[in-house]
Amino acid sequence: MHSLWNDSEASLFADALGQRVYTSRLLGRNPALVMHGGGNTSVKTHVPDLFGRMQHVLYVKGSGWDLATIERPGFTPLRMDAVLELATLEQLSDVDMANALRTASIDANAPMPSVEAILHALLPYPFVDHTHADAIIALTNTPNGREHIERVYGERVVIIPYVMPGFKLARLVYEEFPKQAHDGTVGIILLNHGIFTFGATARESYERMIALVTEAEDYIAQFPAADHAPTGEPPAFNPAELAEFRAQVAAAAGFPVIITAHDDDHALAFARRPDVTEVAQQGPLTPDHVIRTKRLPLVGRAVAAYAEAYRAYFAAHADRAAAPLTMLDPAPRVILDPAWGLLTIGRTAGEAQIGADIYQHTIDVIETAERLGGYRALPPEDIFDVEYWDLEQAKLRKAGSAPEFTGEIALVTGGASGIGRACVDELLARGAAVVALDVNPAVEGLIAKPGYFGVQCDVADEAALTGAVSAAVRRFGGLDMLILNAGIFPAGKRIADLPLAEWDRVLRINLDANLALLSQTHPLLKRAPRGGRVVIVGSKNVPAPGPGAAAYSASKAALTQLARVAALEWGGDNIRINTVHPNAVFDTGLWTDDVLANRAQHYGMTVEQYKTNNVLKIEVTSRDVARLVAAMCGSAFRCTTGAQVPVDGGNERVI
Ligand code: ZN
Repeated sequence: MHSLWNDSEASLFADALGQRVYTSRLLGRNPALVMHGGGNTSVKTHVPDLFGRMQHVLYVKGSGWDLATIERPGFTPLRMDAVLELATLEQLSDVDMANALRTASIDANAPMPSVEAILHALLPYPFVDHTHADAIIALTNTPNGREHIERVYGERVVIIPYVMPGFKLARLVYEEFPKQAHDGTVGIILLNHGIFTFGATARESYERMIALVTEAEDYIAQFPAADHAPTGEPPAFNPAELAEFRAQVAAAAGFPVIITAHDDDHALAFARRPDVTEVAQQGPLTPDHVIRTKRLPLVGRAVAAYAEAYRAYFAAHADRAAAPLTMLDPAPRVILDPAWGLLTIGRTAGEAQIGADIYQHTIDVIETAERLGGYRALPPEDIFDVEYWDLEQAKLRKAGSAPEFTGEIALVTGGASGIGRACVDELLARGAAVVALDVNPAVEGLIAKPGYFGVQCDVADEAALTGAVSAAVRRFGGLDMLILNAGIFPAGKRIADLPLAEWDRVLRINLDANLALLSQTHPLLKRAPRGGRVVIVGSKNVPAPGPGAAAYSASKAALTQLARVAALEWGGDNIRINTVHPNAVFDTGLWTDDVLANRAQHYGMTVEQYKTNNVLKIEVTSRDVARLVAAMCGSAFRCTTGAQVPVDGGNERVI
């Protein structure tokens, strides 16, 4: 591990708080130190109040901020005297502590300060850094954790046994630190939790962190690494098998979930260890991971048994809390399976991703600890205390209702532009994870969100469709909603001049490709936890065709008929299929300003008149179509299948 300190970068952050921001970001850049909101930092300084009186203030990381991207407002300024006084209390509930810290802030708009604020205040150094470094956890989560730490650091660090983070930990440090600390003390090791370093400057504190963690890494390097190569290739991936598994997890959880599959060598080798049940079922690296990963992964696929064991764990420990507890859902968050490798589960794709990041590190640390004599996690009761922490339970009680499609997965064809793109945006906004297929390679980088997955794919190529569906299921675990939007609209040509090759090409893309995709996704849609939904983007040309568009009109009419038959065939599988018939949607790539002006002139209208040439005299946008598509996937249409709904501003020939 190397220091990332850079003089010219650092010079951009002049004052103490600026320096604090800078080195906090340096810590945040290294996932072997902190991940996803983990770790916290502080600086003590003096700032004037409104009357010009100097006050001693602790700026400590606020909750909701990530060290990697933290800014000045991410640090909560607390009056030092108010915080220090709290440490003199024998006892303090977490709820009272949270309130006392909140009211010690000199900025009413600052975030909730870190639960370790009191500990930061206690340490008599201007800068304090705290991480959950992998190498430190690997040393301490072993049968001889304390001995390893003493061998590496001697007397240079204060060693604190595990206690619950928050006030209990601050109180223990308040008692222990003065007894163990001396002039040469450079840090604190919290067994089964992490490390604190401190210094007179931001750089000193940060570089002590790097130096101490590097010493741990060097010590670990002396122990031979075991080689766990994956034994053979993974078996062929069957999307329906994973979708079935997702249905079981969703049933246990009580809500739909996203599942992300990782079958890289690292994950596979771990999942295939002969002793995986034993080494993986010890517990998380640090208790705070429990919120993301649950205490234990599921090894294998027995979801119901896992949920049963979780209920038993809750029942066994629920009386540890003073107030009655609400049980969290009993579904697993991490799965280890010899064929699938590592699966991570979340209510959203972002949660599944965080779970994966944490578990990849967990695998590393477990393997390192195994080299050092065996991985040992904290006993279940300590993990339970953090999982059912007052502050966490309060967050649950406060949590508002999630967007309607949270945990569900939609696939949109032709998703890179026009109506397809609008459907992607609308479904993402309503909480779904969305897979967009498009022949345009730009689809892959269209949206940078964990819930978006763009796949370049020519829908006319059946093998490419199979690959795209398989990739979609690996990424998100199944399929709940299918939006068949991709289509082509060739230049106008009368039947007498229409070559068969052009007719074939239009039907291939507008019709055949949809049949192929419907048939491929049926095994997934019928396993959707809330029932499958298909929405077909038809056309006004179905009820009201025009001359010069024979292939297009025929393809959309046949597609509409295909949807009606699918509605009949799939109703028993709880899959609804409905069709929208848009008309005159001009905010798509097809309709440039020039084309619009030309067409309007052709009909003797202004562009404005041409755009609103319908019964309601309104402009129909891609977003209008997308909102209808999303509504058809929602509960308002739960009793509707086989329907066709125009979205055209009203058309005299259709009405
Ligand atoms: Zn911590």
